[in-house]
Amino acid sequence: MIPHVPVAARALAAFARRFGGKPTVLGRAPGRVNLVGEHVDYSDGLVLPMSIDRDCVSAVRVSTDGRWRAWSEDLRSLAELPDPAAAARSPRATGDTAWSNLALGVLAGFAREGVRVPPLEMAFASDVPLGAGLSSSAAFTVSLATAVAEVLSAPLFGIPMARMCQEAESEFGGVPCGILDPLSSALGRADHAMLVDCRSLDVRFVPFPPSSRVSLLVFDSGVHRSLSDGRYAERRHEVEDAARAAGVGMLRDLDETKLRTLKLPALLERRARHVVREIQRVQLAANALRRDDMELFGLFMAQSHQSLRDDFAVSTPELDALVDEARALGTAGGVYGARLTGAGFGGSVIVLADATRAGIGERISAGFERRFKRPAGWQRVSSGPGAAVIPAARWPAA
Ligand code: ADP
Ligand code: MG
Repeated sequence: MIPHVPVAARALAAFARRFGGKPTVLGRAPGRVNLVGEHVDYSDGLVLPMSIDRDCVSAVRVSTDGRWRAWSEDLRSLAELPDPAAAARSPRATGDTAWSNLALGVLAGFAREGVRVPPLEMAFASDVPLGAGLSSSAAFTVSLATAVAEVLSAPLFGIPMARMCQEAESEFGGVPCGILDPLSSALGRADHAMLVDCRSLDVRFVPFPPSSRVSLLVFDSGVHRSLSDGRYAERRHEVEDAARAAGVGMLRDLDETKLRTLKLPALLERRARHVVREIQRVQLAANALRRDDMELFGLFMAQSHQSLRDDFAVSTPELDALVDEARALGTAGGVYGARLTGAGFGGSVIVLADATRAGIGERISAGFERRFKRPAGWQRVSSGPGAAVIPAARWPAA
């Protein structure tokens, strides 16, 4: 079975409606869950993301009318972009078409690499939910970069591509994001999580149990934060301040014993403690996963959530409620572990559960509804492959 048929079909249909005919290239790239290792990427830490079976598909063709146009099927929005070669001097899009800044950022990245970027027609469709912590933004930028590299025969992939997408998002999307999300999207492998050292960008693949045995449930807290709302940037500043106060370049270079002797101001100490412990936890969790010890892995997820809630202060009552409901079921009820995933301040909770047990998602959602008088949407995701061009022979029929 070709896993991406429905999204690819939507992208093709949208392209035909908007621009007529067919694109020359379809690029796809997945969203991701971060299993453990949150808010440590910008401290050169270790993270354990996994690319998932949800994709953004970018349909791209060189345009004959001299314009750069982009259509988002998900936002039902058409944007006209300035010449990417002059992007640095062009004003950013605002309002309904603000999303197109990400596309411009990607094209500008190619231009900066010395690639001539001709006028393009671009259509996007995604089944990564937007703003829910599953990194729809990385799926978006990486799928576009994958498609454009193919259309323009530009040799850009892997880590340099991820870096370019990171720059697109931070400079053009106004979000100072790390490289982790685009890297997971670009390099992910089906049936594997990725242990990433954010300092060296060394990647090790760790087998993840098949979906017939372990389920990954993603609950949308319904609070859609945006990373550009300032609180993410605030945490980054606090982490920088903590590193400076501790006299290290990055918190990666600090250990807990040393941290305790430093007597940093209380807030900075809490932020640093999260980072230091979380980095260590990722290493331990990856070992647990290698040994296929899901109960131990779940314990590290629980610790990670607590640390994000208490020391790093990025959780919300909704996220905490979802985690509490999952924890109440416990291993006896088929739940290994639960934690918020993504930057926090809203977004999603992931629950790792025994796939042979029925009704876990329904129970957690019902518990959430009792408290918040609205259901928490949830879905089951699996691991999925990293970004690739979809060969024309495998395009769904229009
Ligand atoms: P997340 O990455 O967790 O989903 P973000 O706030 O980082 O949340 O990214 C969401 C943003 O990414 C959207 O607001 C939009 O700007 C952009 N985006 C993602 N997918 C699409 C899409 N299919 N079409 C247009 N814009 C998209
Ligand atoms: Mg994002």
